[in-house]
Amino acid sequence: MSERESMPYDVVIVGAGPAGLAAAIRLKQLAAEKDHEISVWVLTEGKKYEFPHILMPPFMNNKGTYTGSLGNFCRWLAGRAEALGVEIFPGFAAAEVLWNDDGSVKGVATGDMGISRDGERKPDYQPGMELHAKYTLFAEGVRGHLTKQLIRQFELDANSEPQVYGLGVKELWDIPSDKHHPGCVIHTQGWPLDEANGGGFLYHQENGQVALGFVTWLNYSNPWLSPFEEMQRWKHHPAIRAVIEGGKRVSYGARAINDGGWQSVPKLAFPGGALIGCSAGFVNVPRIKGSHTAMKTGMMGAEAAFEAIEGQRSHDELTAYQQAYEQSWVSSELGKVRNTLPLVEKFGNFVGTILSGATMWAEYLGLRMPFTMGHEPDHTTLWRADQVKKIDYPKPDGVISFDRLSSVFLSNTNHEEDQPCHLTLEDPDIPIEHNLPLYAEPAQRYCPAGVYEVIEDVEGNPKFQINAQNCVHCKTCDIKDPKQNINWVTPQGGGGPNYPNM
Ligand SMILES: Cc1cc2nc3c(=O)[nH]c(=O)nc-3n(C[C@H](O)[C@H](O)[C@H](O)COP(=O)(O)OP(=O)(O)OC[C@H]3O[C@@H](n4cnc5c(N)ncnc54)[C@H](O)[C@@H]3O)c2cc1C
Ligand code: SF4
Repeated sequence: MSERESMPYDVVIVGAGPAGLAAAIRLKQLAAEKDHEISVWVLTEGKKYEFPHILMPPFMNNKGTYTGSLGNFCRWLAGRAEALGVEIFPGFAAAEVLWNDDGSVKGVATGDMGISRDGERKPDYQPGMELHAKYTLFAEGVRGHLTKQLIRQFELDANSEPQVYGLGVKELWDIPSDKHHPGCVIHTQGWPLDEANGGGFLYHQENGQVALGFVTWLNYSNPWLSPFEEMQRWKHHPAIRAVIEGGKRVSYGARAINDGGWQSVPKLAFPGGALIGCSAGFVNVPRIKGSHTAMKTGMMGAEAAFEAIEGQRSHDELTAYQQAYEQSWVSSELGKVRNTLPLVEKFGNFVGTILSGATMWAEYLGLRMPFTMGHEPDHTTLWRADQVKKIDYPKPDGVISFDRLSSVFLSNTNHEEDQPCHLTLEDPDIPIEHNLPLYAEPAQRYCPAGVYEVIEDVEGNPKFQINAQNCVHCKTCDIKDPKQNINWVTPQGGGGPNYPNM
């Protein structure tokens, strides 16, 4: 018999980001609207060209929208949810899906606490708790650990394209007041990426701060590439440097982002639950925006669950949610930009951007393109390290650019040291026996937190070392490892980064 306590609920929501919180409450419209200065820059080494707004379809325009910290917005949203009686359990990650005998989802269990690195129970051991629900909504965000299992178990991706991702590396800077233009939004394309696709963003937020970041699509093929170093290099472009020079970096973070779009959205509902928000992947890639679609799908999932419970149903498939999504503006918005990323992937930044702009205009004018392009999974795209040019990144100057460890320090990442490693390897030999000779073990470079190192053991042999306490939970290793050997699982006690104002 299980020693875990269980608690019954109508609906359990896993994850308290925009999707999960919007599923718990209905959002009131945000109070004030203000106009923003918006500018798209195309960067070449040392120069920038402004992309004329007139060439972009109106749905790419951000005028009248808001800028702000998503983390702070979620904290506010959480307060609203609690005021409405929603129970939020911060610090208790769902570690396991629970199943009914008929194969439907019964709920989730939080992880045991007080387990040592070797798997032994420590004196402060506490078993996890079972949360049973008529319906469980999974809002884990990008590459959710439990979501991955559910997709596999219910073959939710059988009829969709593979999900693909980018890695966003983000920083927050306090900048001199004469350079700060609240509401100004800048997106960049081009330099410094020449071996991959992606782009940068720079948002002037409140309190003299700018949030700037760089997204590298994870379908790159050169294993020497480092998304972290690309971001550091990007800041040295005169146009970006001019904004942050004289300022101070105050925060750092990294997170993968779903790039697959409309064609990669899996089946959403299954017996006993559904995927909402970035667990399923509703990011509008050319706009780099997914919080609005996460919230809307959260609300639609909640409505379908509510209706089912009102009808005395439980643990069946929320087909109403699937239908609501297919008829919603979310599906229609993503459908219009579904070929944007594949066209850039196929034809490169310059020609691809022109073609994707043309298709977006056509879709905007109601001309549905008669084709939908597919994706290759990101873990399949690496070439051998000895067949491509090694990339030598410049050393950080400690003023504009920094190293990984000082960056992780600013992410306020905290994990209890004596706990099982949450970066699990299906086969511990693969990093040294397979990845090292073929790809110079790319985890050393794609991880933006310096978690993975190849060091020498006492006999001088290469050894794969995992510094799990540095992990900022970006999920890139789970996505990009060429053998899909790394499985990110929830760490004990809700450890991880803590981003103020990000
Ligand atoms: C660099 C970058 C820049 C972006 N810029 C923008 C932008 O400007 N505008 C915009 O709209 N969108 C932007 N996005 C996308 C946006 O962040 C996501 O689309 C949005 O956050 C998705 O919301 P979500 O609730 O589905 O997931 P998330 O916001 O990821 O929230 C999921 C939450 O669940 C928690 N969680 C995960 N697993 C578990 C578990 N097992 N148990 C308990 N909790 C769990 C996570 O810790 C997290 O708090 C950006 C993304 C990136 C990476
Ligand atoms: S260990 Fe994996 S999830 Fe953690 S920061 Fe590195 S790449 Fe991201």
